[in-house]
Amino acid sequence: MKILVVNAGSSSLKYQLIDMDGEVMIVKGQVERIGIEGGHLKQTVQIPGTEKKVIEIFQPIADHVEATQMMLTALQDEKKGAIKSVVEIGAVGHRVLHGGTKFSASVVINDAVKDAIRECIPLGPLHNPANLMGIEACEKVMPTTPQVAVFDTAFHQTMPPKAYMYGVPKKYHDQYGVRRYGFHGTSHRYVSKRVCEFLGISPLGQRIIVCHLGNGSSLSAVVDGKCVDTSMGLTPLDGLLMGTRCGTLDPAVVQFIANNENMTVDEVLNMMNKKSGLLGISGLSSDMRDIDAAADKYNGDAMLARDMLVYGIKKYIGSYAAAMGGVDMIVFTAGIGENNGALRERIMDNMEFLGAKLDHAKNAACADGHATECVISTEDSKVKVLVIPTNEEIMIARDTLELVTK
Ligand code: ADP
Repeated sequence: MKILVVNAGSSSLKYQLIDMDGEVMIVKGQVERIGIEGGHLKQTVQIPGTEKKVIEIFQPIADHVEATQMMLTALQDEKKGAIKSVVEIGAVGHRVLHGGTKFSASVVINDAVKDAIRECIPLGPLHNPANLMGIEACEKVMPTTPQVAVFDTAFHQTMPPKAYMYGVPKKYHDQYGVRRYGFHGTSHRYVSKRVCEFLGISPLGQRIIVCHLGNGSSLSAVVDGKCVDTSMGLTPLDGLLMGTRCGTLDPAVVQFIANNENMTVDEVLNMMNKKSGLLGISGLSSDMRDIDAAADKYNGDAMLARDMLVYGIKKYIGSYAAAMGGVDMIVFTAGIGENNGALRERIMDNMEFLGAKLDHAKNAACADGHATECVISTEDSKVKVLVIPTNEEIMIARDTLELVTK
């Protein structure tokens, strides 16, 4: 069966077509600038054993329905497409940001599920409406194809209350659902499961720290295959220093900056989401490659940004090891985690006290676009340190297949 995986953002729609016989991604595409000037579709078809085919279209795209239609037309393109008819698409798996406490696993979409995703809009005001638009657009153009929702928050629903509650009056939790939810759940689930398969061991009895380090970054603590804590919170702003997000800070900073700069709370939060992190500290870029290049030339602010990132990750690793009563594996994933060997070296420096010893040669070999699944700790390291490239799309496709063939 071929499964279409859709990730709808407010002005974009990313998609992959995965042939589940062998789990091969045969199409990768994205529609960008939906509803704004400069609409654009780019699709690459790569069927094993055949030549790579690329379609690129520039035209105004009014809304997500039009974007979905463009995607389906491109998928069925006679010369450069991958399928002859939409009936070849067995099901569609949608990435949905926020499932609140309503979803601890993926589900087949029906009206009640859509209502529940809608009810979670206050928790994911930017993403959930876009995700719903993607779902409804697919329903409109493929009315008989089953649709599945896979939530970014679902994997973290196993956290115990002591990990997810905030120390504000409990009524805010009871009334509005104010608590830690965590994100990147599909990636944390994929990586924590895959690492055990890779090592040929059962997840039972394993204490794993997954470091998902990309533009957005989060750590999770996973025991017996279940998430017990994660660094992102009510929103993805919490936790580590990220590309443009500040991560954890004293909440009083919001009021302090708002008063001094005559800004509204919304403006301060916008600054904390979009202008902070590596970008805000370095004044240069949100991309770790730019930070590294500048820091290696002794740019003080870039060095500070890198130091803050590394220090933050170290502190989370230490706290999760303490929370789990020890750690058996530390796993790196996502753009920075997979590719930036030098940063992994900095993070793991001086971690022998924890039982984690890096094999410098193995670590250096797994970098710069050559990320493969590999152990990067020494043979005698008590804690295994690994790189496992993430694959959220395959997880979405697997969930979708399982739910529609059940
Ligand atoms: P997102 O969170 O948007 O999915 P990614 O997981 O792609 O982002 O991570 C983006 C980060 O990964 C950037 O800071 C970038 O510097 C880093 N990165 C991506 N590819 C490479 C690479 N080949 N070498 C070094 N760093 C990389």
